[in-house]
Amino acid sequence: MSQRRFALIDRDGTINVERDYLSDPNDLELIPGAAQGLRKLQGLGLGLAVVTNQSGIARGYFSRETLKTIHQRLQDMLASEGIRLDGLYFCPHGPDEDCQCRKPLPGMAFQAAKDLNFDLREAFVIGDKAADVDLGKAVGAASILVRTGYGRQHEAKCRPDHVADDLLAAAQWIALQIKGGDGN
Ligand SMILES: [Mg+2]
Ligand SMILES: [Zn+2]
Repeated sequence: MSQRRFALIDRDGTINVERDYLSDPNDLELIPGAAQGLRKLQGLGLGLAVVTNQSGIARGYFSRETLKTIHQRLQDMLASEGIRLDGLYFCPHGPDEDCQCRKPLPGMAFQAAKDLNFDLREAFVIGDKAADVDLGKAVGAASILVRTGYGRQHEAKCRPDHVADDLLAAAQWIALQIKGGDGN
């Protein structure tokens, strides 16, 4: 039996509206099309893991406890849309901390692949920044830049395999890749 394929998805600016260091669970708002896109990916049989840089913790803007509350609320919002995340990974470090998990470094992707048992070279990485695209490249996954969040500003800063208007459009492109790949 072949392994399940996975989508590694950025959070801010990709799933929920970018708020520059979102620190209040009440400010969580899904981007139009995001839930539909996630549902489509799930319907294609893909596993879903969120990978998000949260340096607001290192910067002292919010606590791990608050982030936990934000992520619980996000999962509740997604659950009410029929979406279940297989994993949710965050890097709490700042840019100067020399960690291995802050995107574009691959620590979170490696951890997800280990925990959830999937092949990163068969995965899709989706996000609104060059760091997301560069993570995809670093692990041999297909990379997709979405034009939501900071996407338009980052279009010239990276070379994704595909650029999509939003997460739904990204999911539609992924559907074509999967169906075109082996005729199924
Ligand atoms: Mg983002
Ligand atoms: Zn880190």
